[in-house]
Amino acid sequence: MDDYELVIVGGGLAGLCAAVEAGEQGAEVLLLEKEGKVGGSSVLSGRYMAFAGTAMQKEQGMEDTAEMLVDDMLEVGGRANDEKLVAAYGELQLDTYNWLVEHGVEFLSIQAVSGHSVPRGHTIDSNQAIQAFYDHAVSMPNVTIAVDSPVIRLGRSARGHVEQVFYEQGGRRKTANAAKRIVLTSGGFSQSKELLGHFAPHLKRTIRIGGPGNKGEGIRMACEHGAWMKDIPYLSGTYGFHPTAEGPEKSQALAFYKGAIIINRRGKRFVNESLSYKLLGNAALREKENSTYQIWDQTVMDQSVPGDKLYDFERLLRKGLIKKAESLQKLAEQIDVSPDALRRTVAEYNEGVQNGEDEFGRHTLTHHFGKPTPIRTAPFYAFETKVAMLATYAGLSVSTKAEVLNPYDEPISGLYAAGEIAGGFHGAGYMTGSSLGKAAIFGRVAVKSALGKFQQTIT
Ligand SMILES: Cc1cc2nc3c(=O)[nH]c(=O)nc-3n(C[C@H](O)[C@H](O)[C@H](O)COP(=O)(O)OP(=O)(O)OC[C@H]3O[C@@H](n4cnc5c(N)ncnc54)[C@H](O)[C@@H]3O)c2cc1C
Repeated sequence: MDDYELVIVGGGLAGLCAAVEAGEQGAEVLLLEKEGKVGGSSVLSGRYMAFAGTAMQKEQGMEDTAEMLVDDMLEVGGRANDEKLVAAYGELQLDTYNWLVEHGVEFLSIQAVSGHSVPRGHTIDSNQAIQAFYDHAVSMPNVTIAVDSPVIRLGRSARGHVEQVFYEQGGRRKTANAAKRIVLTSGGFSQSKELLGHFAPHLKRTIRIGGPGNKGEGIRMACEHGAWMKDIPYLSGTYGFHPTAEGPEKSQALAFYKGAIIINRRGKRFVNESLSYKLLGNAALREKENSTYQIWDQTVMDQSVPGDKLYDFERLLRKGLIKKAESLQKLAEQIDVSPDALRRTVAEYNEGVQNGEDEFGRHTLTHHFGKPTPIRTAPFYAFETKVAMLATYAGLSVSTKAEVLNPYDEPISGLYAAGEIAGGFHGAGYMTGSSLGKAAIFGRVAVKSALGKFQQTIT
């Protein structure tokens, strides 16, 4: 048996931030990663991080505060979020943004994205961020990162603390003893058909995206020791992915946040396109057919953002994933939708934009931001779009100190969790950028709490 002060399970953003924080606090720490390399879903992510009041926003003349971020997160979550966790996010987010910058994460731009009343999606290159943290972690003599080392189960000591970590390495069973604590950062279960079938059978029609190792093993391990779960009823897919996104290239376009409409295979709109893409996912899954289209015109196309994972429409056009036509009639023929239905839908939408009375209540582009424009400037574009399961967000019940809680809100001795494995933050909806944000923020909180160095202000 090997002894460490802390054992961290999973090497995505939450695990790597935890490892770096622990290393800098001087703890002897082991991070175990199941796959052959670190990164998990974090490295595949759309790269937005939700932070408010940053120097970058100020430089660009954007006014934003932690209070505004908290309000948006609660509103998007239908106030079903755990308010204390959201308040803790608000309180700690700016410090973590600055900490990420200090540790070499390069923030590239700020975008208006889903659920934000002001532009607040700070973009990163996820490969760059993960590499920066990995390099930093392995440069510290007190931090060990072991890949190809899946954790199988956790054990309790005679004192009742969860402190043994059973894992496999090179075909051998091993045990690590975590004298201080165990931090679970093993992500969600978007890749587990079994757990999705168990918790959310309505998501069967989604395409599966997400870190290959994200099968909910950490959740099972914590449940064995009495953990409770939060947000299960709100499990939902994410709207915006091309059917080919299940492959290595995660082709995605959110043209609806720039002014596109969403139609079903019968050429009809069915939802307010400015909603969170989680709610759009729910709406799309209620449609009879398994696939929908985003439709837009040149006015929206002109807002393509080169290199952006969500808004680089020109790249998707070059790849042949977006259909283009000089008229709505020809576009409809290409996508096998009734031309009359499409023309009628667009005409009704345009009328609604002109007189401010949209059939589905759309008055903005994203949550409170931007003005819709009529779809009338040729050429016209169509992007086939499906709902994907890329992150689960529902997960272990945790305190603001990242302690894993039992059904009576009591901490399970020895066990902490951060990142996508933890539930309670998002409630009924999801604000873009808050998952990577919470991974970094609470990866650090978990370690400081475990080492007895966390100053609690929210109770
Ligand atoms: C395509 C895509 C786009 C996204 N876009 C965004 C975005 O723009 N903004 C945002 O905020 N969020 C986004 N998300 C969600 C976000 O990326 C994740 O929620 C977040 O990265 C989770 O970080 P994490 O560290 O908790 O988990 P992960 O990064 O998934 O890391 C978990 C790690 O634990 C490992 N692991 C699992 N089980 C075990 C085990 N038994 N033993 C050892 N290791 C184990 C996994 O292999 C993995 O490496 C996106 C996700 C996807 C897939």
